[in-house]
Amino acid sequence: MNKVLLIAEHDGRHLNSSTAKALSCAAALEHAQITVAVFGHDVSGVGEEAARLAGVERVQLFDDPGFAMPLAAALASVIAAQALQYTHVFAPSTTFGKDLMPRVAALLDVPAVSDIMAVESARRFRRPIYAGNVVLTVEVVDAPVVVGTVRTASFEAAPAGGQASVEKAGVFLRGVTHSRVISQAQAPEGRPDLQTARRVVSGGRALGSAEKFQLVHDLADALGAAVGASRAAVDAGYAPNQLQVGQTGKVIAPDLYIALGISGAIQHLTGIKDARTIVAINTDSEAPIFESADYGLVGDIFELVPQLQVLLQSRAGRQ
Ligand SMILES: Cc1cc2nc3c(=O)[nH]c(=O)nc-3n(C[C@H](O)[C@H](O)[C@H](O)COP(=O)(O)OP(=O)(O)OC[C@H]3O[C@@H](n4cnc5c(N)ncnc54)[C@H](O)[C@@H]3O)c2cc1C
Repeated sequence: MNKVLLIAEHDGRHLNSSTAKALSCAAALEHAQITVAVFGHDVSGVGEEAARLAGVERVQLFDDPGFAMPLAAALASVIAAQALQYTHVFAPSTTFGKDLMPRVAALLDVPAVSDIMAVESARRFRRPIYAGNVVLTVEVVDAPVVVGTVRTASFEAAPAGGQASVEKAGVFLRGVTHSRVISQAQAPEGRPDLQTARRVVSGGRALGSAEKFQLVHDLADALGAAVGASRAAVDAGYAPNQLQVGQTGKVIAPDLYIALGISGAIQHLTGIKDARTIVAINTDSEAPIFESADYGLVGDIFELVPQLQVLLQSRAGRQ
């Protein structure tokens, strides 16, 4: 029997779909008995959403004002205190999970398995290294519990269909004094979250300035897509850091990825290798992005994107 504690990611109102994907990884363990832990304040609705996912046996609600804006440092000690009742503690390999789980592993003095992309057995997993160019098989030996993050791009979201029980857990919040949350910014209402969006439009160095990066936002809005950026665009200040896609940014798996003026460096491609359809627009027909693209347009983004917008508008007008 594998007893799994899965840490839910959510925004206080809804479960993030990364949780349902990490759940599929947990369910790939033989005879998995899965508990989802929801940390937050007034999050019974999130707990209900988790309970409806197929494969979840129990939801534990850690509902406390102290978890309204939880810090990984505060959550880690609460999770570590529960961990030894389980064989596995998993979280999605998002910014949230990557911040949290190494702390949990360190508190338990066990190794952390990052970016699990496939389950081979209860203690043997596959994970990518070198920007996804090498896939490593790792085995956890001699640890009382397996602590890991799940590469969400490698798993389909678990479907609805569960009827798990939801229980309130007693909370023992150990305050942290060295850090506190000052503010939290969210993507504008209506724009999808980059990490889970089905469509993403990304811009690169070619955009040339933060003002001109608006071209990327405009096309994204027309398509109902999230906005991403290459590291060069982020480093140049055209787009904020949280939009970076790639090895040191977000790893995403949208149905459609449109790369505007992005060369296709390996560190960028590693963030989009699970995208279903890649479209690239670039002036350089030799740009490496065209080797990964399903559709490529050789040309200037400042000419082609406005033309694309006109096409989209006339199509929307006809519908
Ligand atoms: C350890 C490490 C980690 C890294 N992590 C990341 C990461 O997470 N994400 C990431 O993106 N990068 C990452 N990088 C950086 C990466 O190597 C590249 O430098 C970066 O991706 C380049 O960004 P770019 O494609 O926007 O810029 P460039 O490589 O400068 O490409 C710009 C492209 O725009 C085209 N272009 C120019 N003008 C136009 C125009 N008007 N219309 C159309 N096309 C035009 C050019 O032909 C060119 O192909 C990392 C690097 C290292 C060393």
